[in-house]
Amino acid sequence: MVNTTIKTTKSQEVFAAAQNLMPGGVSSPVRAFKSVGGQPIVFDRVKGAYIWDVDGNQYIDYVGTWGPAICGHAHPEVISALHEALEKGTSFGAPSVLENVLAEMVIAAVPSIEMVRFVNSGTEACMAVLRLMRAFTNREKVIKFEGCYHGHADMFLVKAGSGVATLGLPDSPGVPKSATISTLTAPYNDLEAVKALFEESPDQISGVILEPVVGNAGFITPDAGFLEGLRELTHEYGALLVFDEVMTGFRIAYGGAQEKFGIKPDLTTMGKVIGGGLPVGAYGGRRDIMSMIAPAGPVYQAGTLSGNPLAMTAGIKTLELLQKPGSYEYLERITKRLADGLLKAAQETGHAVCGGNISAMFGLFFTSGPVHNYEDAKKSDTAKFGRFHRGMLERGVYLAPSQFEAGFTSLAHTEEDIDQTIAIARDVLSSL
Ligand SMILES: *Cc1c(COP(=O)(O)O)cnc(C)c1O
Repeated sequence: MVNTTIKTTKSQEVFAAAQNLMPGGVSSPVRAFKSVGGQPIVFDRVKGAYIWDVDGNQYIDYVGTWGPAICGHAHPEVISALHEALEKGTSFGAPSVLENVLAEMVIAAVPSIEMVRFVNSGTEACMAVLRLMRAFTNREKVIKFEGCYHGHADMFLVKAGSGVATLGLPDSPGVPKSATISTLTAPYNDLEAVKALFEESPDQISGVILEPVVGNAGFITPDAGFLEGLRELTHEYGALLVFDEVMTGFRIAYGGAQEKFGIKPDLTTMGKVIGGGLPVGAYGGRRDIMSMIAPAGPVYQAGTLSGNPLAMTAGIKTLELLQKPGSYEYLERITKRLADGLLKAAQETGHAVCGGNISAMFGLFFTSGPVHNYEDAKKSDTAKFGRFHRGMLERGVYLAPSQFEAGFTSLAHTEEDIDQTIAIARDVLSSL
């Protein structure tokens, strides 16, 4: 229920102790709440749409462990499938039937994917896909967009969105110039800028990689014609189009953004939902390109724990749950209710905001907008977002701790959860 005044003594103790043990007290930077102020809560357990912290406070969760929990946390069917799989062992490092099952499901689901390779994270999938793009085209350059995040590999740490944006780092020390010299950037939704890059180096660009709907610079949708334009330009210049669907895959539609928008990329990266809460990433696409991956072809990429049976099991069960009729209609309905409700509450309490949703992904910027790219997103009042975030947390709603992250709902969120969240938001917004 609503926590009007929460006690977080234990969270504070645990997080204080963590400072001496791990850099910043966390295993991944944005968890430290640097951009919203205050201290993170320390989790004890998660179930359905809810989180409980170590002090026993309950929260409605809109982070969903950054996307994977689309069926709700610790779904009983996922848990029981995992129990069964656990009895057969935790890692094989050898072929298993489970890999075939999940691969078949991914190939059936995602329109452009004919073959797939499993890895352990979205970062790994994006690293591998870039190597493959370069090998297939025999070209080195790659175009990415400002504010898009493709994991933390050197080549992509240029204008890389949320985590980096949150810390205010233009890129990162330790990334050699040689690693990013071939990474070209353009503003999102700016086809002319992409065209200019192609015209400058017509024979040197291996491809374009993007979040087909952006989640790592806040929630930003592609303008009409943008994805189509990229498809045409890449064809024209003999370059590959790569959709990074680590966040959007199985979230904004079962077949990802490419199903939603009807655009076929050459390659796709996936993660998050596909692992159902266990560490999984994947990349896939055209058979002629994927056949270049070792041992079918010469492009090396490997992984001790890749295709892990527990991770495959959680992924398979999660996709099965999503296949049930009405899943995406439900996700769209409750998420739209939430996004509309938040916008209305903010407008009625006198705040300049913009935002929206596609299926189970949503966002709210503290700027009147419209937001077409990262430059627009940066006009947001991030200090106000910080106060909003804190107020929501203190009243039992857990939002992503940065203005530059998208929000996520799940099949476990009820209309009651949504309405309660909107009521709390109205309360917080009127006090800002
Ligand atoms: C989360 C994310 C990644 C990185 O995935 P990890 O599993 O965190 O390494 C890459 N691309 C996009 C679009 C993401 O949202």
